[in-house]
Amino acid sequence: MTDVIDGDAIAGEIRDELEGAVQRLRDEGVAPTLATVLMSPDPASETYVSMKQRDCEELGIETRDVELPLDSPAGDLYATVEELNDGDGVHGILVQMPVPDHVDDREVIERIDPAKDVDGFHPENVGRLVAGNPRFEPCTPHGVQKLLDAAGVDTEGADVTIVGRSDIVGKPLANLLLDKGPGGNATVTVCHSRTEDLTAKTREADVVVAAAGVPELVDGSMLSEGVVVIDVGVNQVDADTEKGYELVGDVEFESASEKASAITPVPGGVGPMTRAMLLHNTVKAASEQSGVDVELP
Ligand code: NAD
Repeated sequence: MTDVIDGDAIAGEIRDELEGAVQRLRDEGVAPTLATVLMSPDPASETYVSMKQRDCEELGIETRDVELPLDSPAGDLYATVEELNDGDGVHGILVQMPVPDHVDDREVIERIDPAKDVDGFHPENVGRLVAGNPRFEPCTPHGVQKLLDAAGVDTEGADVTIVGRSDIVGKPLANLLLDKGPGGNATVTVCHSRTEDLTAKTREADVVVAAAGVPELVDGSMLSEGVVVIDVGVNQVDADTEKGYELVGDVEFESASEKASAITPVPGGVGPMTRAMLLHNTVKAASEQSGVDVELP
């Protein structure tokens, strides 16, 4: 029997645990607050930002919503970030990516106060993660780690193959899984578009994490019996549906399920975990900045 890992349920448990932390902060007069900054040419970004704001509101986290016209000079975005850095009531800052071509995304990220960088993308936070002393674990990799834990997968000594080496998923996930301690101690292989024999790498793994952005790249023929499969991919493909498309992962679910002992679905796997871990980081930021200790899941 293949276990379909229920990301919605696991994320729900994390949100329930965070509720207590938010309440404790509020009891101490601290209203945890996330600022979202939207200046993105991707039409989906607006939906992502409003979902993140709704998640916050449901948990009792305040939001500040800043939107800039797409043709604003880069300096306006930098100035917005700097104002939010100085804003006492703001604990976390999230600039929705991608930003327009005339803005350098690295310049934006480097301007975010590392203590408020709840995405964990600032070079200081990346450095801390690599050094094994993370301040904010990036949301998607952290969500994957929590999913594995909740599904009872012991990463210690496990061979994990990650397909994808991006700065937001593949690389930080490799760091988290390599770290000493619970949820780490794995032997990690990171594959990418220049990897010569991907199937050889996925077949030797106890855990395969697909984060390539290629619809159904990993199928059952590339997996060994009993593997655990985590599908990070979210790809819009043409389909005969009301919207004219459907969302598919980077894993071919049917054939992979025949080999896997456990697998995440798309949607309902990694996506809700990413959202839950953003809440986690915002609560953590509020706790650290206010000096009010809270228990975090
Ligand atoms: P990216 O485009 O930045 O990186 C993709 C990586 O995959 C690259 O390192 C590339 O070398 C590698 N790759 C591409 N084709 C490959 C191939 N044929 N074989 C091996 N490696 C290959 O993408 P990203 O931002 O890391 O996102 C990856 C996927 O995860 C996308 O579908 C994205 O939508 C999804 N995603 C989902 C969540 C979530 O919360 N569920 C969060 C972030 C990203």
